[in-house]
Amino acid sequence: MKVIDFHTHPYRPDELAPATWQWIKSISPAVAQHGNRLNDPHYVVDVLRAEGVERAVVLAEHCPQTSGTVRTESVLEIRAQALDFFIPFASVDVNTDADAAGMLRRYLDAGARGLKLYPSYQLYYPNDERVYPLYEACQAAGVPVLMHIGSSVIAGTRIKYCDPIHLDDVAVDFPDLVLVMAHGGRGFWYDVCAFLAAHKPNLYIDVTGLPPARLREYFPDLERISHKVVFGSDWPAMPKSVRQNAEAIERLGLSPEAQRRILRENAARLLGL
Ligand SMILES: [Zn+2]
Repeated sequence: MKVIDFHTHPYRPDELAPATWQWIKSISPAVAQHGNRLNDPHYVVDVLRAEGVERAVVLAEHCPQTSGTVRTESVLEIRAQALDFFIPFASVDVNTDADAAGMLRRYLDAGARGLKLYPSYQLYYPNDERVYPLYEACQAAGVPVLMHIGSSVIAGTRIKYCDPIHLDDVAVDFPDLVLVMAHGGRGFWYDVCAFLAAHKPNLYIDVTGLPPARLREYFPDLERISHKVVFGSDWPAMPKSVRQNAEAIERLGLSPEAQRRILRENAARLLGL
């Protein structure tokens, strides 16, 4: 099955903190196999298409206090070279960008199709009032917000900030904004994320970074909430291949409809494809 990958990162070793890059290098077969050829977006498109990926969200990561400074310009540039493949998401930081909302609006005008927030890397709670202008901008533009929600091994991150319960406020205050919980609460909060996805119309789960064979263990109601779950990989920061992960989801024993929703249809709807 062709998949839409809701969660990939650009190959930008020089824009990552050295420890972040070392960690990615240590786990990624894609980096070991392709190395600096991944600098070429056309090459990356070929690699991902060979793994069954039809379209991919590519995420900026501006987290100067922790993981790196991959600015939105980087992903807009990548998308400019592969318009029919990459869907760029912006990243701004309310702690270090003087006018994060103004900056975000400019990125959305320039072609960004969503926002990635990193509460545990940028060090704020998702319901912090300083973040609200970012939600307003995304709600007005009709684009989703993807948020890191779960554990992290990156130095300096503070996991307390991504407790999903803080998204309850955001979901209520921005009823027309799509909020996607990347990593589904990895490590601590699977049940909270599943409840929120089941009961809040605008909250979704992205299963990136979870061993796909164990998804039904983490989310016993996966079939029932399959209209609220999207597939993502964290490529190239993943220990397997995108294809292997997608195939593991196909082996979970879900209905064919649920598989299609998770691997492709929900993402197509949320991204307006
Ligand atoms: Zn990621």
